[in-house]
Amino acid sequence: MITKENYTCPKCQNTNRIKTYSFIDHTNIKRVINKEIFTNICSKCGESIDVFYPLKIVGENYIIHYTPNENAPIADAGKTILRVCDTFADLKEKILILEDNLNDIVIEFIKDYIIYNLDEKTKNEVEGIRYNNCDKDNLYFQLLGSKTKAVCSYNKYCKLLKKIKIKKINQCVLIDSYTYKNYYRMRLL
Ligand SMILES: [Zn+2]
Repeated sequence: MITKENYTCPKCQNTNRIKTYSFIDHTNIKRVINKEIFTNICSKCGESIDVFYPLKIVGENYIIHYTPNENAPIADAGKTILRVCDTFADLKEKILILEDNLNDIVIEFIKDYIIYNLDEKTKNEVEGIRYNNCDKDNLYFQLLGSKTKAVCSYNKYCKLLKKIKIKKINQCVLIDSYTYKNYYRMRLL
């Protein structure tokens, strides 16, 4: 559903009417990832402004509730992967992970593992790590604040997926580098 809302341009104070969506399906996911759906051009001064608003993103096997600046769990049902994201950076990464059919809890585990194993110099430079993309052999990560990329083999990902037991999640939850630890335990193989 599309609604129209007013927003005031922070540069020229002009009141603009902007389109906001309540719901985005698979066909429009790219417009979320490239932020187009949140970007508006002021009709008076041409300033480009990002206006983030709550949005439900429905992929083929997941649902993400994007709830900017709040991370309250949202009740939902079904066998779909249910997630909440509260920042655009988290939302974008989450969509990339779930669109690539990867488990986000395992991805967070790998991200911690990569950071933990960096040499001291790089570790001090790095401000964070984000999943980027994958091919049939590897998963690729971007180290933020550093030009370095990190790689994890797909094979290693698959081994971890077997070793990590994910807890049953039946509401929309926020899974990030802090909270993922609450949702798994290691199998004793
Ligand atoms: Zn303006």
